[in-house]
Amino acid sequence: MEATRRRGKVHSNGKTAEETEPTAQWGRAWEVDWFSLSSVIALLCFAPFIVYFFVMACDQYQCSVSQPLLELYSGETTLSAIWARSPSFTWGAAKIYAVWVGFQLFLYMCVPDITHKFIPGYVGGVQDGSRTPAGLINKYEINGLQCWLITHAVWLANAHYFHWFSPTIIFDHWIPLMWCANILGYLVASFAFVKAYLFPTSADDCKFTGNVFYNYMMGIEFNPRVGKWFDFKLFFNGRPGIVAWTLINLSYMAKQQELYGHVTNSMILVNVLQGLYVLDFFWNEAWYLKTIDICHDHFGWYLGWGDCVWLPYLYTLQGLYLVYHPVQLSTPYACAVLALGLAGYYIFRSTNHQKDVFRRTEGTCAIWGRRPPAFIECSYRSADGGVHRSKLLTSGFWGVARHFNYTGDLMGSLAYCAACGAGHLLPYFYVVYMTILLVHRCVRDEHRCSSKYGAGWKRYTDAVPYRLLPGLF
Ligand code: NDP
Repeated sequence: MEATRRRGKVHSNGKTAEETEPTAQWGRAWEVDWFSLSSVIALLCFAPFIVYFFVMACDQYQCSVSQPLLELYSGETTLSAIWARSPSFTWGAAKIYAVWVGFQLFLYMCVPDITHKFIPGYVGGVQDGSRTPAGLINKYEINGLQCWLITHAVWLANAHYFHWFSPTIIFDHWIPLMWCANILGYLVASFAFVKAYLFPTSADDCKFTGNVFYNYMMGIEFNPRVGKWFDFKLFFNGRPGIVAWTLINLSYMAKQQELYGHVTNSMILVNVLQGLYVLDFFWNEAWYLKTIDICHDHFGWYLGWGDCVWLPYLYTLQGLYLVYHPVQLSTPYACAVLALGLAGYYIFRSTNHQKDVFRRTEGTCAIWGRRPPAFIECSYRSADGGVHRSKLLTSGFWGVARHFNYTGDLMGSLAYCAACGAGHLLPYFYVVYMTILLVHRCVRDEHRCSSKYGAGWKRYTDAVPYRLLPGLF
């Protein structure tokens, strides 16, 4: 595997970080308490049914989440009756899904990036990831933007010229495809689990907690790979999950057109705002290598199943809802939603960009006109004993709150939901879920950063006391 291992650095004053400041050990180190364990078991058992519930509610109850519960409560229907009415697994859907995943696999593995050679400002091709807890730096082939462009070009060429398949194909097989996605999700998670015991990619980066459920869900291996380049995290998170997101929305748009003869402004808003978010992800895929998913989380069911099922099915609920409820928004309301979505996107992107530039230039950049920006210097120790230095930015949005990028993300999430009007609760699931996810992520990340940086992290939280909203949280 293409990776380099770096040891403790010596600073300009001739002393190592070890000699200047006590350092903390880092990496995932949570003890599995009873609460974590019961949450893990509950999620493993019920998460597929949560996804099923929302999709079924649209299919059978016009997206009402209360109606099936009320009917069950009053005895008007039964679980087995609901189950019997649901479309089951079909070989047709399995074929579509296999072609889809196979195509993404082909693009990921066999088409090296050329877009970075002619799109100015885009960073693609072979890039370094972050240092792992064991001290490795992995190399990644960044070609997500190219895969997204090729996939969407094929989709549009089919819709307008070739007509090999209907543009509503995803909507038309939505529930049978969900069974296929579940099969892949569980297969991938189980493979990663067994692989960690039998042939781990980097044994030093494996983390065993002693609890089999926790290991299965949160993962053991840090960056599992097959061969030199097939990286599970990069592949499963980006494609088939995120490439599919915009295609699913396009399929919903095509279904609206087919059913009602027109596309509503709410559907266009959802497609535009979520399309911007997806395109941003691929434009910044090299930056994504430095985010928590890639550089801190281990690969297990949480990422594997989550990328195959949770993301494509629950992140696209707004478009699905709009197929059943073609909401036409008033122009002022649509403009307000657009403004909220764009403001959220601006905060999300600028905050992430500030940290990225700051880290890449090692603090020699200007942030909000201040050069050099304010920061706190700290040190940490990797598992190989190496001692390294790091900087925590306190200028720009990083001086406003410790996770202002999450705040921007939540504003965008609210905008997607608000685009669906106020008729039903279902489209608002996304913002509720994102709030839980990102608040939980704050806590997880800060726990990890505190173990990693020790006293340095304390100095940082004293300087920037709030997490998401200054004065509130
Ligand atoms: P961040 O990009 O905020 O990364 C957190 C890491 O950044 C910390 O672990 C630490 O890592 C470093 N860091 C923390 N504070 C500072 C600082 N002041 N200066 C410099 N570095 C700092 O978090 P995520 O990776 O979770 O999120 C990235 C983006 O992805 C966010 O905008 C989030 O909203 C979005 N996201 C979206 C999801 C979705 O499902 N739509 C899911 C998850 C995230 P180090 O160890 O390097 O110091």
